[in-house]
Amino acid sequence: MRRALLSLFVLLAALALGILMFFRPAETPRRYETSFMDAFDTYSKITLYARDEAQAMAWAEEAHERLLADHRLYDIYHDYQGLNNLKTVNDNARIAPVKVDAALLDLIDFAKEMNRQTDGRMNIALGSVLRLWHDCRTQALENPDNARLPEESALRAAAAHTDLDQVVVDREASTLYIADPDLRLDVGAVAKGYAVERLARYLMDAGAEGALLSIGGNVRAIGRKGDGSAWRVGVQNPDLYAENQNLTVVGLQNLSLVSSGSYQRFYTVEGRQYHHIIDPDTLAPADYHWAVSVVTEDSGLADALSTALYVLPLAEGLRLVEQWDGAEALWVEKDGEIIRSAGFSELAGEKE
Ligand code: AMP
Ligand code: MG
Repeated sequence: MRRALLSLFVLLAALALGILMFFRPAETPRRYETSFMDAFDTYSKITLYARDEAQAMAWAEEAHERLLADHRLYDIYHDYQGLNNLKTVNDNARIAPVKVDAALLDLIDFAKEMNRQTDGRMNIALGSVLRLWHDCRTQALENPDNARLPEESALRAAAAHTDLDQVVVDREASTLYIADPDLRLDVGAVAKGYAVERLARYLMDAGAEGALLSIGGNVRAIGRKGDGSAWRVGVQNPDLYAENQNLTVVGLQNLSLVSSGSYQRFYTVEGRQYHHIIDPDTLAPADYHWAVSVVTEDSGLADALSTALYVLPLAEGLRLVEQWDGAEALWVEKDGEIIRSAGFSELAGEKE
């Protein structure tokens, strides 16, 4: 009898423990942060929620590695041993097709599609034109006494070699070929966002439920914060001297925020500032807006659209955004006036 009672007691105790284990609340994810300066030559910060430190470290390390790898692949300025990147393509693909990673073909195809959708304003085949501006900017930043503008004749000559149809993607052979020997690719307008989106997809597949990737101001939110609220991110005021550096704060849940503007990268010639986003018609810095910010889920799309909207007049840009499912934008005009697309406030959760 005593033994039976004891067994019953043990059984009940085991059952109770089982029930307790079953209903024990899952460990709440904790917040981890990591930052680095090397990927895409910019300051990056990754905030993520993970159940334990090992998981957080593994994701952070993988994220860093993936961004560095994409940076090398899309780099037009440096060679890396054993890698066919965009510099290899610019140097060699006019002679013979260059075999490249499928990730590069994906980016080129995406950029071609965005070129069609934006009336040719965002064009990664502008490389020969962009290089002239880039060289002058670099020289001027190194030695301000040398500050000068590119020669008008050189710009015109380069502009004759910007036809994106001359860039041939061969999926079967996994190659890129450039039929115009003077055409050069520059993916500065899309590569960072595209890489960030690739990283976001990887982290989501790996099980991340809450993360904020901020790669040089290119922001991608995955899920929500640990407490269930949306990520909150400021829209940069292009007036870097203003007291309030956030124009507004948006709530992001599975959304990206990307901005383009004249305040980001520029140099000065005879007291005038010349920034880095070039109007394909005038071949000079685009002169329509002060800054444009885009909110949409896909970070690659947000990056491409923000550059394209920067080189589009307001009316055309508004039309493009209003017809684009799931994309919203905020323009800061040159006089500081702010214009929002119809759904900007709601989609971005401003009124939360
Ligand atoms: P973002 O900061 O994303 O707006 O991209 C700016 C970068 O894109 C520049 O530094 C150039 O490398 C490149 N770029 C400038 N103008 C254009 C343009 N009209 N189309 C495509 N890329 C451009
Ligand atoms: Mg862009």
